[in-house]
Amino acid sequence: MYYYMDPTMILLLIGFVITLLASTGMKRTFSVYSKIESDSGLTGEQTVRRILAQAGIHDVQVRPVNGSLTDHYDPRTKIVNLSADTYSRTSIAAVCVAAHECGHAIQHQVNYAPLNFRSALVPAANFGSSLAWPVFFIGLVASIRQLTTAGIILFSLAVLFQLVTLPVEFNASSRALKMLEGTGILSAEENAGARKVLRAAALTYVAALASSVLQLLRLVMIANNRSRRR
Ligand SMILES: [Zn+2]
Repeated sequence: MYYYMDPTMILLLIGFVITLLASTGMKRTFSVYSKIESDSGLTGEQTVRRILAQAGIHDVQVRPVNGSLTDHYDPRTKIVNLSADTYSRTSIAAVCVAAHECGHAIQHQVNYAPLNFRSALVPAANFGSSLAWPVFFIGLVASIRQLTTAGIILFSLAVLFQLVTLPVEFNASSRALKMLEGTGILSAEENAGARKVLRAAALTYVAALASSVLQLLRLVMIANNRSRRR
């Protein structure tokens, strides 16, 4: 019972609510702007080609991928992957997502330091997030302080990754807005909508970080409570 009913559960609940609010907000904003067609009539794919050409990047390709919200730039293959919706649609939301992924391609091109740091952190973050809970739990059950501490450190690696994700995502979006404005793909009025879409997406990353920090805090509190009891 102790593990499930402890008062620190409230932290998980707060994290859950924050995440839910951010993702609901993002879905709502996306659904509004995926119904508004842009005046230029460019698809996501054409947007990528236009922006990359403008930025002088000729070795990055654009391809459709399965799934929804699967859009991403892959630095290893130098491919902007767009979900089917983004790839062939001409809505403001599609253009926004396409431009945001170009933002990552441009970061890669200019060797943007937070992007490199984030890529370097991937293995450690994966290792940390998969081992943190088992290690912490074993430490708790067996009352081995070193293990609970190790669990907390492992979890911190995943939190650090989410922290570094913020500047990378914010910067990709600000590059996207600048390119959309500079190339004239969106009008000033449409850009205001684009700003809303990208801000809503950015908030989900902030919420994910907040939720992880709360989980980290919970682990620290549980570990401290436990050691005080002994
Ligand atoms: Zn991104």
